[in-house]
Amino acid sequence: ALHQIPDVLKPRYVRVNTLKLDVESAIHELGKQNEVYKDGMISGLLILPPGTDLHDHPLVLNGSVFMQGKASSMVAAALRPEPGWEVLDACSAPGNKTVHLAALMKGKGKIIACELNEKRVERLKGTIKLAGAANVEVLHGDFLNLNPKDPSYSKVRAILLDPSCSGSGTAAERLDHLLPSYSAGHADTTDLDRLTKLAAFQKKALLHALSFPAVERVVYSTCSINQIENEDVINSVLPVAASYGFQLATPFPQWPRRGLCVFEGSEHLLRTDPVEDKEGFFIALFVKKTLNYLEEP
Ligand code: SAM
Repeated sequence: ALHQIPDVLKPRYVRVNTLKLDVESAIHELGKQNEVYKDGMISGLLILPPGTDLHDHPLVLNGSVFMQGKASSMVAAALRPEPGWEVLDACSAPGNKTVHLAALMKGKGKIIACELNEKRVERLKGTIKLAGAANVEVLHGDFLNLNPKDPSYSKVRAILLDPSCSGSGTAAERLDHLLPSYSAGHADTTDLDRLTKLAAFQKKALLHALSFPAVERVVYSTCSINQIENEDVINSVLPVAASYGFQLATPFPQWPRRGLCVFEGSEHLLRTDPVEDKEGFFIALFVKKTLNYLEEP
């Protein structure tokens, strides 16, 4: 039987937007009304007591802190972009990870944030403005149509790919239905059809990301718990990834939950649990072999 910890008993996470406020000041401000702890794994991520409501907190309203969960905050951190790099966020709206990238890069270098959906582009722009991320260039278009050989992308060193997914790791109402199998095993035909289409897009987008000539690091993430959108997508691109010189690296080796054991190397992959960790996320990290980035600290 599942012993689900009610949401009200789970800690709240906020990510300090270090473009606007330093971590110690954020702790000081938030600490006036709440107990505040630093997360041991993600720099700038703070833990507050269960049930803390920060929706109307001035630091949230002015973009100094973002209400972003731990799993979601792991994604940009796993990419480890350096200040001064050029980075592409392939599927970027509403932009939570885009502005996290900007903070990790200390506002230096360039982020190209691509988004297909016109309405969501507006949300993306709003997030970027709120965060005060000055080094982000918004691109309204289809990531699959960006030409990797275009000189505009010749300096892109890292790509964050967080494509559309089923959301099965975060959609609470679907969890009971999907949890026992951790796969699409119990889904009906419509669900399966949808998942197959999503997985086909995810694979295409990942192959596209890996084909950019100067890219050394690619993070692929979903908020899905379905093997077909996660391990299966990664497994299916491995031969092509290897031909470009990529191999899987291990994001956050200290994190206990890894990929489902469905192929050799799946222990590199990272999963978060929809119940224990509040959100079911999946993260894979590809790193170009010829470079010294394989040892993830
Ligand atoms: N990374 C975002 C964040 O952390 O705020 C969430 C991204 S959401 C999971 C996926 C986004 O990809 C959606 O906004 C969707 O409109 C966009 N998208 C879907 N297909 C796309 C494509 N072919 N090119 C660019 N964006 C696409």
